[in-house]
Amino acid sequence: MNPHGTYSFEFFPPIGEVQTAALYEAADQLAALQPDFFSVTYGAGGGTRRHTLETVLELQRRTGVSGVPHISCIGSSRRRIRAVLDDFQAQGIRHVVALRGDLPSGLAAPGEFRFATELVEFIRRHSGDYFHIEVAAYPEVHPQSVRFSDELQHFRLKVEAGANSAITQFFFNPDAYFRFTDACRQCGVDIPIVPGIMPITNCERLVRFAGVCGAEIPRWLLYRLRDYGDDRKAIQDFGLEVVADLCERLLQGGAPGLHIYTLNRARVSVQLCQALTARGLPFG
Ligand SMILES: Cc1cc2nc3c(=O)[nH]c(=O)nc-3n(C[C@H](O)[C@H](O)[C@H](O)COP(=O)(O)OP(=O)(O)OC[C@H]3O[C@@H](n4cnc5c(N)ncnc54)[C@H](O)[C@@H]3O)c2cc1C
Repeated sequence: MNPHGTYSFEFFPPIGEVQTAALYEAADQLAALQPDFFSVTYGAGGGTRRHTLETVLELQRRTGVSGVPHISCIGSSRRRIRAVLDDFQAQGIRHVVALRGDLPSGLAAPGEFRFATELVEFIRRHSGDYFHIEVAAYPEVHPQSVRFSDELQHFRLKVEAGANSAITQFFFNPDAYFRFTDACRQCGVDIPIVPGIMPITNCERLVRFAGVCGAEIPRWLLYRLRDYGDDRKAIQDFGLEVVADLCERLLQGGAPGLHIYTLNRARVSVQLCQALTARGLPFG
């Protein structure tokens, strides 16, 4: 880990030639920023699952940046997860993001794992300390949780099961992050909790994502974004300023790095990193 913390970018496995070319072009540009790793999501629907490892390996081969596959357990079996872990190990992957995931619509059976804690326990039982395990954290509370105290307790259990570090769901309210990390420390959880950062490029898409994952878009931000209508350039310029301010507050408040959700595009992430560097803040 570099002395300023951990800096990483997240991609999803591309489908088809156009997406594939766009992803690798983005990765080439983002690799120049020397991040600690590139992570690749693990599709809950099954369609992209087999592409996660392929994408990780190709990213590593092309860019030299360490690749980190996500793995989700919902709807899966121990046998299947064991096989995925063995594949990772055979390819020399030592760092994973371990998640419960969400059941694809139409699939009712949760499989042999109910929560990410059980996946973390399973990975430790199967592979000992071989993997560095990241887990997800929700400063604004996971949409299925009823109380903050439940969220905290369930996060603590994931850490006790063997998680080494965490990446948060995206958020725009830095106080939610600081309150969450303070509460973690108070209950003895002291792993690094890296903020997940969502660049703002498109108001409707942001509202859709936020609705699905329970992230709050502050009213003032939503109304300002709506004012820009179809003016994408104005939305992106304003979004860049807002997200750079957020990152600045997080890093100055002691956040141990940043994890940027790239949506497989480089431009906005590069601009954000340049904006942080111009403010004297580290990236990579
Ligand atoms: C950084 C990051 C990366 C992600 N990458 C992916 C990806 O690649 N693929 C994908 O499909 N999804 C991904 N997701 C989304 C994630 O899978 C969903 O948010 C999912 O709903 C929860 O996954 P989890 O690992 O946080 O689950 P968990 O930690 O299991 O939590 C899920 C819910 O169950 C509750 N809970 C946990 N333990 C218990 C318990 N013992 N008893 C009762 N309730 C409990 C929690 O409080 C929470 O409400 C990602 C999310 C983040 C933040």
